[in-house]
Amino acid sequence: MLLRLHSSTSALTHRSNRQIRSSIPHHKYFYRTLCAFTDREWDEELSIQPQALDEPDEVHTVPATSRRNKVPDSAPLDLHHLDKAFNGPQKQLKKLCLVHASSGTSLSTPMSALRKIKAWALNHTLDPAAIHSQLETAGVPVSSADCRTCADPCQDGHGEYPSRFTVDMETQMLGSVRPFCRQIMVSTGVTDWDREITRTSGSLASHISSAHRKVAIPHSNANPDLPHIPGIFNASDSAEIAILNGSHKTISDDHQLETILVFPDYVVVSGVPSTWQGAKMLWNSVLDPRIPRILGSTADEAAFSTWVLPYSCVITLCSHKRRDNRCGISAPKLEHEFTHSLQHRGWTVDTQLEHMIESPLEKFNGTNEEKEAHVLETLKELQDDKKALILYNSHMGGHRYAGNCIIYTPRGTSVWYGRVSPHEVEAVVENTIEKGLILPPLLRGGLGLSKQGCKSLHDW
Ligand SMILES: [Zn+2]
Repeated sequence: MLLRLHSSTSALTHRSNRQIRSSIPHHKYFYRTLCAFTDREWDEELSIQPQALDEPDEVHTVPATSRRNKVPDSAPLDLHHLDKAFNGPQKQLKKLCLVHASSGTSLSTPMSALRKIKAWALNHTLDPAAIHSQLETAGVPVSSADCRTCADPCQDGHGEYPSRFTVDMETQMLGSVRPFCRQIMVSTGVTDWDREITRTSGSLASHISSAHRKVAIPHSNANPDLPHIPGIFNASDSAEIAILNGSHKTISDDHQLETILVFPDYVVVSGVPSTWQGAKMLWNSVLDPRIPRILGSTADEAAFSTWVLPYSCVITLCSHKRRDNRCGISAPKLEHEFTHSLQHRGWTVDTQLEHMIESPLEKFNGTNEEKEAHVLETLKELQDDKKALILYNSHMGGHRYAGNCIIYTPRGTSVWYGRVSPHEVEAVVENTIEKGLILPPLLRGGLGLSKQGCKSLHDW
């Protein structure tokens, strides 16, 4: 069966898989899912070389159609045959020829088979050793340690995800992070949110989203000698502001005023009104990509108070259950495991921002240069404090790789990990949080990870 595939159907991703399965025939499901999964215009025919198949006689072709609703009806596809084909010669991806089951066998494991197609069609690297050396070449400090420190099945009493908790294990995770220049986390005090947080009427996230203006940024030339790896970026590569909600409560005395965490700057800004005016002020003094480092708001916006985040690392876990149930399941289990592992290693763990004791950067007495030096000094000193903040965050993309977590460090790195289960937490704490080394099999991407000759993410 030959299908002509074209533009992706984003509407598909807004419906549950069960709905899709019951409402459309399998081949259409396959077809639309492939489009949505690959998120790409499929206006060419794709093909697996027939000689790679054991039973070439079963390969049928049907005329390609150019419109989705004209995909011809026929029996379901047997994707088992594709598994065999994956081991055959992979020539140019011009056509995807699907084996048509003459018996009308139904799809037994459609999701994972489809993801295999995606990985194959997009030429994904799945070999951990290849990813390891790719990262190493790009100046990312990597660890060779196992991601799992316990036996399988686990003897260490780690929490388990329920058996129905399945995630994408077939496609390449590395590269699944969209670059941003700043990422903010708005105080909400809760752990689940409306599906689209920037559409919640009257919320600060919605105001910030509308105050967001496109600005031109100078072309980045941060690491001219290092190879570019998708998903690995620097703040100067993008003008995007990524807006997330966080589980932290505001630290402003007036509870109408929100508290924002800002990365990679590693600061906390409090006293932000949940209004369009407040969002605009925030944009002008904090978020504008042309601000190289946040040193506190300027005199005319003195309503804000800004501090360097008083932690050696901030760990955020996606808990956005209304977006994907798996994130609602994984976040509390991971929080428990992170807390346990860190405390065992002598760390202090907070799950809410403490009120700041020191005076805010707005009160700093000195020139801007002196203030910048003071901020840098503070960030460097934090590294050895063994103090962690763990928060929940709203959807950040890639929930098919749940459990998702981000680790932020004072030096301004953000490490995005996926497919994290309670069994991987110990290795993440030891290698990434304490030693500043990346575990390649868990890496989705991140900010500030690549630096020539870098031995640890903690090296300045
Ligand atoms: Zn375990």
